[in-house]
Amino acid sequence: MRLFSRKSIHMTAVVVAFALAIVALRVEAQSPRRSFTKPSVAPSPAISEYSDSNWAIHDSPNFMVWCPAGEVSPAELGQHCEALRSRLIAKWLGNSNPPVWSPKCLVVLHPSRSSYLQSVGVEAADTAGSSLVVCRASKVVSRRVDLRGDGIDFRTAALPHELAHVVLAELFPGRSLPRWADEGMAILEDSVSKRSLHLRDLQTAWVDGRLFHLRDLLQMREYPVSQDWGVFYGQSASVVEFLVNRSNTRQFVNFLARLAEEDLDAALRETYAITDVEELDRLWRASLLVDR
Ligand SMILES: [Zn+2]
Repeated sequence: MRLFSRKSIHMTAVVVAFALAIVALRVEAQSPRRSFTKPSVAPSPAISEYSDSNWAIHDSPNFMVWCPAGEVSPAELGQHCEALRSRLIAKWLGNSNPPVWSPKCLVVLHPSRSSYLQSVGVEAADTAGSSLVVCRASKVVSRRVDLRGDGIDFRTAALPHELAHVVLAELFPGRSLPRWADEGMAILEDSVSKRSLHLRDLQTAWVDGRLFHLRDLLQMREYPVSQDWGVFYGQSASVVEFLVNRSNTRQFVNFLARLAEEDLDAALRETYAITDVEELDRLWRASLLVDR
């Protein structure tokens, strides 16, 4: 399992097709890779492309689940997805009775790495999960999660993280979350063992003096270069956790909403009574010393 537990690298690509006003978001997770190909929106096969294969399919209120026939119960996986969705929406959107998803989220559990890569593209090589949300005119028109099922505990290793990305895409329809926030929030849904690996990356970066100043991290528009992935994910998760623990998830979402409307320092002052990002950086680093 070392291959999928050593690192958790996630990629997101946003493509805006101006003519059609389409925004597509792709997220791949669980990569141990050190090299990085700038992501693009990978091919997303239509369901008909699977029709010749031996798939078992189940519809639940919010999901359409495809599994290799006879291996995993799609009904059971669908139930698991429904429970996860409810928990994530209640946590991040504050809605305990959300409307059903239309369209439903397609969840494809792939029997092999090659099947998985055929769907998500070779740039996701060595990843274990991927999600794709497509918006048109601020409305979600497609949701999809692809998972590798070959020898990987997809229920804990990839599904919660990827489903978090799908749910979080609804926070501000038609607008992408800042990278650090999107990944940091999704990592909070990862297993304890995976999060401890991110923490280890963070500690290594601390010792090596490679931490980002929070002004740089919080204003980062794209993913950093590949050698900074470890610190990026570890630090993003840590900062999200720090801010959430300072108040609660709703306040953190309020902060993200303000960030879209005003500058970083003003958003910090109004949401957290923190003077500016310099003070946030000091407070966050001090919290690391306490935690060590
Ligand atoms: Zn991710």
